[in-house]
Amino acid sequence: MDGACSGVVAARIEALTFRMEMNDGTVGYWSGTRRWTLTRLCQDGHPILRQCGEIIDRFDLREVWPKRKNASQSVVDMNSIRWLLLIVLVLIGSVYGGPLDDEYAAQRRRMVRTIDADVKATSARLGEPGLEARVLAAMGSVPRHEFVPSGLRHLAYANRPLPIGYGQTISQPYIVAVMTALLDVDNQDIVLEVGTGSGYQAAVLAELVQRVYSIEIIPELAQLTQKQLRRLGYDNIETRVGDGYYGWEEHAPFDAIIVTAAASHIPPPLLRQLKPTGRMVIPVGGPFLTQQLMLVHKTAEGRVKMRQVLPVAFVPLKGKH
Ligand code: SAH
Repeated sequence: MDGACSGVVAARIEALTFRMEMNDGTVGYWSGTRRWTLTRLCQDGHPILRQCGEIIDRFDLREVWPKRKNASQSVVDMNSIRWLLLIVLVLIGSVYGGPLDDEYAAQRRRMVRTIDADVKATSARLGEPGLEARVLAAMGSVPRHEFVPSGLRHLAYANRPLPIGYGQTISQPYIVAVMTALLDVDNQDIVLEVGTGSGYQAAVLAELVQRVYSIEIIPELAQLTQKQLRRLGYDNIETRVGDGYYGWEEHAPFDAIIVTAAASHIPPPLLRQLKPTGRMVIPVGGPFLTQQLMLVHKTAEGRVKMRQVLPVAFVPLKGKH
């Protein structure tokens, strides 16, 4: 035994903490809620006390814990207070959302401001003076962090596309907002989406329309996204696995169609499934070339008009067409 200390000068309870003063000037603190904790501490040779093992052996527990009943009573009281505090915090959290939710909401507001500014800066090209309030509101309410892989949540509200696995991406928020605005939907509309991906674009549209039908070609991704959309309560979105090039005949015609993967040409089945006066937004171009975001409009007489809106970069539309 190291002889550095040769006696316990004092040990007393200070609000459930033992303060050990050794006669070599060493002061140690030990928080214990049971009498045996201190006994164990002595037996195991806690680092603070190891040097003083001999002295501790002679240490009289009755001296440091003279009013055992009172002490354990105060332990109960402290525990009750801790539990009460925890319950209050959980209740406050469930009413107002946790601090993390607040942080995401703040990030989302910043994202919406950025998108709004970017749309205004590109308004001439877009042919839109700015985004309607309801599109901004939809962008401001969908929790994008729930649609990105958990490891990338810190980037969820950056104005950029992110990988979602299977070689696919969730589109940049600015592009999602622009495509949504170009569709010019209302709350009675039935919309078809080709390329469910993460489900984010579908969720934004679901805030604005009556129903969204969305098709995804990668079965594993479709399954994961379907689960997530259900968990988040989007019950006006229906998804299925398939090649969206051919549309979704059972639910056609659609008021609007959005394609979120780049096609080499506008799929004729989608044109057929678009209602007269309906709109389609689709990126067109080769996979390694600059694609053009196209706005397609079917007139009341069934004629098709289109215009190039923006150069874009989307993952390619899969399938042999
Ligand atoms: N709208 C998505 C974007 C996903 S990226 C989002 O908000 O996250 C494009 C998606 O289209 C990918 O998931 C890809 O697998 C899917 N896709 C590609 N070709 C397709 C096809 N022929 N039919 C349906 N989905 C297709």
